[in-house]
Amino acid sequence: MKALVLTEARTVSLADHPKPAATAPTDVVVRVAQTGICGTDRSVLVGKFPAEPGVVMGHEAVGTVEEVGSAVTAHKPGDRVVINPTLYCGGCPSCLRGHWDFCVNKAGTEVGLDLDGAFAEYIRLPERFLHTLPEDMHFDRAVVVEPLACALNNIEAGRVRAGETVVVAGGGPVGVVCAMAAQHHGARVLLTEPDPYRQELCREVFARDFGGRVTVHTPDAPALAGQGDVVIDTVGSLLEQCLAYAAVRGRVVIMGYNSNASATVRPLEILQRGLQIIGAGDYNSRLFPRAIELARWLPLERLVTHRFPLEQHEAAFAALAAAPGTPYSALKVVLVPE
Ligand SMILES: [Zn+2]
Ligand SMILES: [Zn+2]
Repeated sequence: MKALVLTEARTVSLADHPKPAATAPTDVVVRVAQTGICGTDRSVLVGKFPAEPGVVMGHEAVGTVEEVGSAVTAHKPGDRVVINPTLYCGGCPSCLRGHWDFCVNKAGTEVGLDLDGAFAEYIRLPERFLHTLPEDMHFDRAVVVEPLACALNNIEAGRVRAGETVVVAGGGPVGVVCAMAAQHHGARVLLTEPDPYRQELCREVFARDFGGRVTVHTPDAPALAGQGDVVIDTVGSLLEQCLAYAAVRGRVVIMGYNSNASATVRPLEILQRGLQIIGAGDYNSRLFPRAIELARWLPLERLVTHRFPLEQHEAAFAALAAAPGTPYSALKVVLVPE
């Protein structure tokens, strides 16, 4: 089959790769319909995130079940599914406490990083990491369910309540999904983004159907200071800025992954303003079915501005500003195997 494989030089190349088979009794092989390019994939290529050379990349995928192992009961060939790429072992101390998202046996099980992923015609996973889609949910929407699961986890960690103001820092795909989910929880959302082109893309997404509940701002807009009952840093390097956005008793959630970021906080400010700084990570797999249900209510397909076949992977990654100083020309980019 065709697949995008990570090279030693941290590029991807289109390769002929063995098609996976359902070798274990609980294996399911899925024919991939589409796979979103995540910020993590981009980070691997620009050297900000580790991954194993030779791996098939990609983890935000939807498709159709092709083949099932002898013990699989939850799925049959032809089922339309979304993959949950956050694997866990089920037996380590974290997993036994139900904290599957903090499984300590992640090595070798990170889909698209050190376990073959979904920038390919087929992917194989254990059945518990596949979820059947509602009949009326199009793949174009379902391909954004995995980022929505991350957003939902972080919104719940911030304890967003109806009537509150949420500041979402960063107008990339994750920021936009957070904004959609937060307004669905009844919040007024202020979304910040420095890049003028992405600001415009964000405004287009929220121009219809949102009744002004989500507005887009430049990060230094004075109107933002002290506004956020909840502030979500989707970039991972904006903690100081986000503390300034927080209202009294505000909850600041660090969501973006950035291994290079550090920040200076003033402990006195934290206690005098009653602030909370919260880290929640990606999501517990228990939350994934709820993200699928939530997706029924959100026009997630509007995020996808570009679709490319696997062959055009260079153009696909170029649209995501892979080189420093180049602006983004896309919001969410999706790769299609055929
Ligand atoms: Zn992702
Ligand atoms: Zn575990």
